Amino acid sequence: MKPVRRKTRQIHVGGIPIGGDAPIIVQSMTTTDTRDIQGTIEQIHQLEKAGCEIVRVAVPTPEDAQALPAIKAATRIPIIADIHFDHRLALAAAEVVDCVRINPGNIGSREKLKEVVKAVEDRGIPLRVGVNAGSLERELLLKYGFPTADAIAESALTHVKIIEDLGFTNMKVSLKASDVHLAVDAYRKFSAESDYPTHIGITEAGTSVTGTVKSSVGLGLLLANGIGDTLRVSLAADPCEEVRVGFEILKSLELRHRGINVIACPTCGRLEIDVVKIANNLERRLAHITEPLTVSVLGCVVNGIGEGKEADIGIAGGEGVGILFKEGKLVRKVKAADLEEVLVEEVEALALSRREKSLLENNDASATLEDALASSS
Ligand code: SF4
Repeated sequence: MKPVRRKTRQIHVGGIPIGGDAPIIVQSMTTTDTRDIQGTIEQIHQLEKAGCEIVRVAVPTPEDAQALPAIKAATRIPIIADIHFDHRLALAAAEVVDCVRINPGNIGSREKLKEVVKAVEDRGIPLRVGVNAGSLERELLLKYGFPTADAIAESALTHVKIIEDLGFTNMKVSLKASDVHLAVDAYRKFSAESDYPTHIGITEAGTSVTGTVKSSVGLGLLLANGIGDTLRVSLAADPCEEVRVGFEILKSLELRHRGINVIACPTCGRLEIDVVKIANNLERRLAHITEPLTVSVLGCVVNGIGEGKEADIGIAGGEGVGILFKEGKLVRKVKAADLEEVLVEEVEALALSRREKSLLENNDASATLEDALASSS
């Protein structure tokens, strides 16, 4: 059963709504040195192409803050400035970006926090309050002995209250820990007490495989409980991978669908085509498509269309000749050697026609085949 989302208030980062009934937003973070303006712009463009909807950029020095206007001017997706320790960097970033992320535990005195809150309020942008198990206040560590879920949740709730007392409520909250149980419990405790939207993630999750598993378990537990309005999968890998995994997690819980969902049979002794190779090729070759489509690759026709009937379109291998099917119905026979090529062409055509249909249904006056072609390319 599709998870029921917890009710949260809604904020906006750039033009993107977060919380309330908005879709769960997928974020990532640049890995470039922010002072490398061109490199950072290029990575943001790659992330946007991969589907990233909001990007966070580290701002550790004044030179990084000075690079922000040029980066902002050359990119489209909203940018969050990630600030630690020096509140003056937050003040500079607030002039430019769409949201400022601070860790109130290390930003300094209440007076400095007040200055940051005033800066974001003056610009009409939100604040992300990012609490981290690794940088909890000394009083909480003395009270709890070590970073517990109660300590992390209490830290977040306390900072939210301090900021609310300054008259500011335009914020979202994250409670990060690299331990899955700790992070999940902290988010649960916070969410039971507050309706601010949450940005969820498991920090320092790990490399591609371990990080994906850890994030999928942690974020999966939270999302299945209706917690999480925006997410980031933290991987020690190309950040575009983070976006891909983020959407896969949402897809698997039926919370969001974007792009091609390739399902492949597990293969067995009846295999007639190289399912693994074709499925991997399809994920790569169809990555530009944003229409939600399920594409099935079956190794043989024994259970053929039956096994792939959940898919929008698919192929099943055969000795020399396989089949192409759509929505559970046979379309035509195809030479086995041509199956991948034919499927790519058919998926692109199907995505295009679905896109055009939805534009027309939305009665968009500018809906033309050219629009559809442009958005599918
Ligand atoms: S589709 Fe064919 S090859 Fe694939 S698992 Fe089923 S029986 Fe085996």
